[in-house]
Amino acid sequence: MKIIKNPLQIQKISIELMKKNKSIGLVPTMGALHLGHISLIKKSVSQNDITVVSIYVNPIQFGPNEDYKRYPRPIKDDIEICKKNGVDYLFLPTNETLYDNDFSTYVTVDKLSNMMCGVTRPIHFRGVATIVSKLFNMILPDRAYFGLKDYQQYTVIKQMVKDLNFKIKVIGCPIVREKNGLAMSSRNTYLSQEAKENASNIHKILVNAKKSFNSGKNIFSVIKEAGILLSKIENSEVDYIEARDSNTLQPVQTTSKKVVIAVAVKVQNIRLIDNILC
Ligand code: AMP
Repeated sequence: MKIIKNPLQIQKISIELMKKNKSIGLVPTMGALHLGHISLIKKSVSQNDITVVSIYVNPIQFGPNEDYKRYPRPIKDDIEICKKNGVDYLFLPTNETLYDNDFSTYVTVDKLSNMMCGVTRPIHFRGVATIVSKLFNMILPDRAYFGLKDYQQYTVIKQMVKDLNFKIKVIGCPIVREKNGLAMSSRNTYLSQEAKENASNIHKILVNAKKSFNSGKNIFSVIKEAGILLSKIENSEVDYIEARDSNTLQPVQTTSKKVVIAVAVKVQNIRLIDNILC
């Protein structure tokens, strides 16, 4: 596995690979890799000649009071994980090489970015869309892998790829969970053991909500009841619970064929997101 830090160098390598007709899979991450990330890496390795993983904690997607500084950065462990799982190139850019002092171009995916997580994180998806566009232009992947845990992010990226004519297939990968059901996340390292157990109720509540909805209960009552149960989790504060059309993320209609129930809940003051496709 080669470690590349320079954007121009990774772009040069990608162009050479393209000339040789090698397919490239990209897995963008912020590191502190866990089994969720590894599932994306494995999928890319199985579908492409070359897999590139990027690890970069992107400052422009964090709000001023968020955890940019505190975000875990166990880079040595991450390198070993990438090596073990068949990654060909690990891209580790720095702030200086990605954002010049005069940096001034942002990618904004309207509508989809302002709802759900965008309400409390107004600049988040602009930061995500911008860094992902930059990675796409540097790494020129054929396929890019995103986890369905960040369902809104996955939808935003798909919209961006369509709108900006990126010739890239966006592949959504299933949520990987702890045994107790808690969705794996780099931020889970902030939680105490007790908080992890409390947080595992989020998934249980979503599973029951899905059951009720699929057995014919009105979606609005389902959401209301699930919201009450979420607020009863010890030490928790519900940011939102929403039922949306899983293709468009528009509020559910009676005609919605596929529904996603998505939540953001703070447990022990750590903001966790999760969702379930019904
Ligand atoms: P992050 O490092 O948190 O930015 O995540 C990088 C990628 O891994 C994103 O596409 C996430 O959706 C995905 N990911 C994170 N956690 C999980 C998980 N538990 N299951 C599946 N994919 C995940």
